[in-house]
Amino acid sequence: MTSKTKMRNNCFALPRGVNWCPVDIALRTLRDNLHAVCEPMKVSTLASEGYTLSQSINAKVSNPSFSNSAVDGYGFSGPTADGLNEYSLISGTAFAGSQYIGQIPQFHAIEIMTGAPLPPGVDSVVLSEDVTLDNGKLTFPGKLKKGSNVRLAGEDVSAGDLLFEKGHRLRPQDLALLVATDVKDVKVYKPLRVGVLSTGNEVREPYSSVKNDLDLAMIFDSNRPLLSSLISKWGCDVIDVGLEVDDVDKIRQKLNLAVENCDVLITTGGASAGRADYLSKLIQEEGTLFEWRIAVKPGRPLAMGLWRNMPIFGLPGNPVAAYVCTLIFFYPAMCTMSGSGWQEPQAFQVPANFKKTKLAGRREFLRAKLNKKGQVEVFRSEGSGRISGLSWSTGLVELPDKALEVSEGDNVKYIPYASFGI
Ligand code: AMP
Ligand code: MG
Repeated sequence: MTSKTKMRNNCFALPRGVNWCPVDIALRTLRDNLHAVCEPMKVSTLASEGYTLSQSINAKVSNPSFSNSAVDGYGFSGPTADGLNEYSLISGTAFAGSQYIGQIPQFHAIEIMTGAPLPPGVDSVVLSEDVTLDNGKLTFPGKLKKGSNVRLAGEDVSAGDLLFEKGHRLRPQDLALLVATDVKDVKVYKPLRVGVLSTGNEVREPYSSVKNDLDLAMIFDSNRPLLSSLISKWGCDVIDVGLEVDDVDKIRQKLNLAVENCDVLITTGGASAGRADYLSKLIQEEGTLFEWRIAVKPGRPLAMGLWRNMPIFGLPGNPVAAYVCTLIFFYPAMCTMSGSGWQEPQAFQVPANFKKTKLAGRREFLRAKLNKKGQVEVFRSEGSGRISGLSWSTGLVELPDKALEVSEGDNVKYIPYASFGI
């Protein structure tokens, strides 16, 4: 079982006097108050991709574990001098997968294949295409350093070396290194269980058919598939809490259901303080709610709450705002709760191919894409219901809180979606 460590009741309270909350203060509040909540378990290395290490790992054996040839060629004892070098060829071949028996004397050479262990007496290899063979003699011109074309035991990693720190999330290439160094299983955190709930009278299940005129006022729930697939890409277990109408009793039931199965819940819709925003109303009355009026575009108030000690991220219903707030606020929070620690997305300064006048007072995230000239373009509309802009984009341009005049060619901060692991 994953444990829910007790959260302080005021853990999501913003500093006193903060009304419109700058993004950085919201992020600091999350960073300072969240912690890893998942328990450790052991998994086989072969099944460990996507898990986060709960313990650092050291190599069991060296890579390579024996000195071997890096090329197909001829092995001998180096170095060689300038001019023509001549060696007597020993019959036989050192093949990969077997140990050549017998010493290779000075001024002798033996054919050797890539990956074959160096026979005793061999410390250097010359490429086959560089030699001439004639009547049991092998000749080649020029200097070769001792150790040429050889991979020494442990030159990549030595037995006992630290491979990964605790908190590292394992990627496909990491499995290759673990297997190469004979690490059979690893200690990881159990996946964070993230509940996803959509709310709204106008929202209906994907693909449900239009039955009457009223249905024409309805929209498909695109947030749940969006957030569920993001979360599963991040190595969390997605708990589908479903779709609920704006009804206090029904939403209460969903929250109670979520507490039984989730470490954290993400909801969309109903998060602001309007008359139809039942979710925030309910959490305010029966749980603990902090309405964060974050100075960010896109995004409206983010409702941060606790329901029977389970953190809730109440995101705006607009898919674009929900997506951007998930990346900016939930992603680092999720990394912290999952055990990999707070993550700042890696960003790049890239020349803009757009113009924009930005007013002071809030941070803006624009849907953006790199073009073939290495400039960054932004989506034609900033409307936060324009889902097509999410599909068009490959990242976000982040414009600072202050007023700014962006001219074509100015460097702007571009965060590729890859910086969020997507
Ligand atoms: P709300 O945050 O509930 O005021 O919703 C803001 C906007 O987002 C409204 O236009 C909703 O219809 C829309 N919306 C809410 N939930 C979803 C959803 N699950 N999928 C797509 N759009 C939604
Ligand atoms: Mg709503």
